[in-house]
Amino acid sequence: MPIHNRFADLHSEITGWRRHLHTIPELNFDLPKTAAFVEQRLREIGVDALETGVAQTGMVAVIKGKSDTSGRVIGLRADMDALPIHEIADVDYKSTHAGAMHACGHDGHTAMLLGAAKYLVETRNFDGTAVLFFQPAEEGGGGGKVMVDEGVMERYNVDEVYGLHNMPGGAAGSFAIRKGGLMAATDLVEIKITGKGGHGAMPHSAIDPNITAAHILLALQSITSRNVDPLQSAVLSICMMSNDSAAFNVIPQTVNLCGTVRTLSPEVRDLVEARLIKLVSSTADAFECAVEINYERGYPVTVNHDAQTDFAVDVACAIAGVGNVDPDTAPMMAGEDFSYMLEARPGAYIFLGNGENGAMVHHPEYVFNDDIIPAGCSWLAGMVEARMPAA
Ligand SMILES: [Zn+2]
Ligand SMILES: [Zn+2]
Repeated sequence: MPIHNRFADLHSEITGWRRHLHTIPELNFDLPKTAAFVEQRLREIGVDALETGVAQTGMVAVIKGKSDTSGRVIGLRADMDALPIHEIADVDYKSTHAGAMHACGHDGHTAMLLGAAKYLVETRNFDGTAVLFFQPAEEGGGGGKVMVDEGVMERYNVDEVYGLHNMPGGAAGSFAIRKGGLMAATDLVEIKITGKGGHGAMPHSAIDPNITAAHILLALQSITSRNVDPLQSAVLSICMMSNDSAAFNVIPQTVNLCGTVRTLSPEVRDLVEARLIKLVSSTADAFECAVEINYERGYPVTVNHDAQTDFAVDVACAIAGVGNVDPDTAPMMAGEDFSYMLEARPGAYIFLGNGENGAMVHHPEYVFNDDIIPAGCSWLAGMVEARMPAA
């Protein structure tokens, strides 16, 4: 692959960018050093337009192809934020920010998208426009949603959008993807049950919220076992239970339950939420308790579009070989805010193997494998060339 050869030449420069970013991990939307570094590189590379201050510290770079008879626009996205983890990985470019670490490899994603930018500006071997999104706050802040809400898809007339994530456990430089739900929706539920406190020896004069909570807890188990299609996936875990009784002979006034709901399709997500609300409110009602339910939707399901997944697989196969691309990998119950971009535009999200050994992402010993940089850059740039072939 000619693309791959060029990235072999650029490999050490991009590795240097990645390792520099690794030394200055920053959190959420607060990425002043990271954003300044990315902006400097993009200006040196000579992108055709650059909008900074998108979603606070994010930015959008525009690269025009040799021609634009297609009128098409392909979006590529990298996340730039780190995690509040104290690094213990044995590397000589350690984090210099106490308590922060690039433990999810977003330094690698950012450096690879910068590498793709450099190649695309040099070659411009496509008919249309490439738009590069560098986003903050993937790890919980929903920076991808903020960029979408700020109108980047409309402002840049984006037709399709693509992104990647490194994945420890996968062979270095291999690819894995699936059509439909790749990563889970991550929702939070809080339930406050209020009865009437009283003496433990005189329950008939109280309304015991413990009994109501127990029935609710069991009733909720019927959602995954009786309502969700057995061939679909859902998790509903009530993880926290507390009440306001501090004595063996006092029936409490209130019980609080708190848990997480994980689902892999919008339909199952809607079903679980609706059944949860019905079961909790009607069970509480049956036992004459008042109930407040706070169901907070987190990141939506990361849903790959069918045709765009096929395009992503074709480009991955050209880079890594058919045997190193899994087009039907198992989904994960973790969440990802690229999901908001995939709700806004057709596109696909792909995993890039980080090597079979080594720590998982979000672990203090995690190390991004710099050997996978040429493959990742090739896929990003390759999506632009494949979806807008030179006229
Ligand atoms: Zn992460
Ligand atoms: Zn990540």
